Amino acid sequence: WPSVHSGSSDSVRSSESNSEVGVYKVMLVGDSGVGKTTLAGIFGGLEDTFPHGTDHQEDTYERDLLVDGEKTTLIFYDIWEQAGSQSWMQENCLQMGDAFLLVFSVTDRSSFQHLPGLLLQLRTARPHHRIPIILVGNKGDLARSREVSIEEGRNLAGMLNCKYSEISAALHHNTQELLEGVVRQIRLRKDEGER
Ligand code: GDP
Repeated sequence: WPSVHSGSSDSVRSSESNSEVGVYKVMLVGDSGVGKTTLAGIFGGLEDTFPHGTDHQEDTYERDLLVDGEKTTLIFYDIWEQAGSQSWMQENCLQMGDAFLLVFSVTDRSSFQHLPGLLLQLRTARPHHRIPIILVGNKGDLARSREVSIEEGRNLAGMLNCKYSEISAALHHNTQELLEGVVRQIRLRKDEGER
């Protein structure tokens, strides 16, 4: 647990195979109902230049992307809620990820208020890693039931030293930008690490 099944995982991941370079695990973390599964489905299914690489399994969504002329494969894990109150499973999630999307709903203040705690848990689990972390405010389309403003989202992200992205998974608004942002953050941190 968890396992990834995909077409491309059959092939040998060696340095000889350039197409297998740059495979990263992205964890979707956040409260129930904020839109993690919806978002993972979109990320797994958006059209791109490598549609054959797309696969859809229960909790993992694999996606090949061409960003700035370079290919990257992202595997999205929607397993946080399964981990639930099992702290060893949560720890496993936090150890596995190469990047994290901390998702909340702008219509659910408590999901927003849980972010600092989640981030603390993550940074405690990975104290020596400069991991890309993006706070994601979802359901931006539901203007009338909004409980968290864009400013609050940005301010919290600034205080916690994370990126911020406000999206609507329902309308696919800003989702492509977020996806590319994840890839760029991963590359940036990787380059910094190699310096
Ligand atoms: P999860 O529990 O975090 O995986 O959340 P889900 O992906 O299951 O979404 C919970 C509910 O919110 C579902 O009914 C979704 O259709 C809905 N939902 C997800 N994203 C959006 C969004 O951007 N806008 C709106 N209006 N509803 C959304």
